[in-house]
Amino acid sequence: MKRRHFIKNTSAALSYGALVAPFSGISATSTAKPIGVCLVGLGIYSRDLLAPALQLTQHCKLTGIVTGTPAKIPVWQKMYNIPDKNVYNYNSIHQIADNPDIDVIYIVLPTGLHAEYAIKAAETGKHVWCEKPMAKTVAECESIIKACNANKVKLSIGYRMQHEPNTQQVIKWSQEKPYGTIKSLKAEAGYFDPNPLNSGWRLNKKLGGGPIYDMGVYPINALRYASGMEPIAVTAKHSTKRDDVYTEVAETTNFQLEFPDGITAEGGTTTGENVNILRIDCEKGWYELSPFQSYTGVKGKTSDGKILEAHKRNQQAQQMDDDALAIQNNTTVMVPGKNGLNDIAIVEAINASAAQNGKRITLSL
Ligand code: NAD
Repeated sequence: MKRRHFIKNTSAALSYGALVAPFSGISATSTAKPIGVCLVGLGIYSRDLLAPALQLTQHCKLTGIVTGTPAKIPVWQKMYNIPDKNVYNYNSIHQIADNPDIDVIYIVLPTGLHAEYAIKAAETGKHVWCEKPMAKTVAECESIIKACNANKVKLSIGYRMQHEPNTQQVIKWSQEKPYGTIKSLKAEAGYFDPNPLNSGWRLNKKLGGGPIYDMGVYPINALRYASGMEPIAVTAKHSTKRDDVYTEVAETTNFQLEFPDGITAEGGTTTGENVNILRIDCEKGWYELSPFQSYTGVKGKTSDGKILEAHKRNQQAQQMDDDALAIQNNTTVMVPGKNGLNDIAIVEAINASAAQNGKRITLSL
């Protein structure tokens, strides 16, 4: 099956609440001019998901492209009516500063290139949307946040799940606790990749490859938003079955997160198996979403028989409309840079633990 089919003590809870704003933006409206979006990197996610979703938005318009592949230019220009003056390459991104058609530069490049181009984007004075995972290292994430703050532009990380209604219900339950205190959580996201050799940069360590970055940030982010807390310690193990192919990055990563108050979480990610579940066990019951991170069909159930039916709204359109409204209304974005940075801090701790035979690594997020 192909990848596209699969796809947070009181102070900790309060600080996380500041990072996630359930339901914000959903009922907000705007009559302002649509936000002009320029996609940087015209790979599979831009081509098959973001560009089509932009056509479904109420507050955005695809107005520009940045590509290093000249053959893609006429195809995109024709399909989305993009004028020559709104087409850029990786060396001309700085010129976007002078283009009034473009309000947002959306970085959809291999993870290892996010920091370099998100910083260049911020320096144009345009708002920045950056795909998940935010970057390869905490230091890179910090440099993106610094550049956006210095240039007084908004920064949103492309965690589409936080804009999805059933996920927002789970986020709300982390605060309301309808099934009592949360005891433990589990989140696993992975898919079986039958041809890993065709997965390009996803096998390349320098470019941010490996399931722990690409898919692993889904369970990490989910365990944070479903608990409403930040973890205080991590243990982890990498494993690889197809070690003739997975030479630079591990095929599978399993990890345990410790949250305050003795709450524990099991997490996993892999390109060796199809897994897609978020489960929350509480004092008086449980609830789960499965799938919890697919492009469509996110649905769930609870211990008392409630069904969380899948919603029809396009996830990427919802995400981009929420982020566009935050720009138009000058409000806080739903998924700010700090939210993406914390996931990468946890990835770094997971990698450090796995490199030291599962040693317990403490965190202060
Ligand atoms: P892709 O390989 O299909 O596309 C990457 C693009 O970057 C290509 O157009 C490629 O030409 C370009 N590129 C520029 N410099 C490059 C270099 N040095 N090496 C390789 N490619 C280079 O990847 P994708 O699946 O479109 O993923 C892009 C980003 O989107 C990643 O950060 C990924 O995590 C993210 N993504 C997010 C979701 C989601 O659901 N939010 C889904 C898929 C991908």
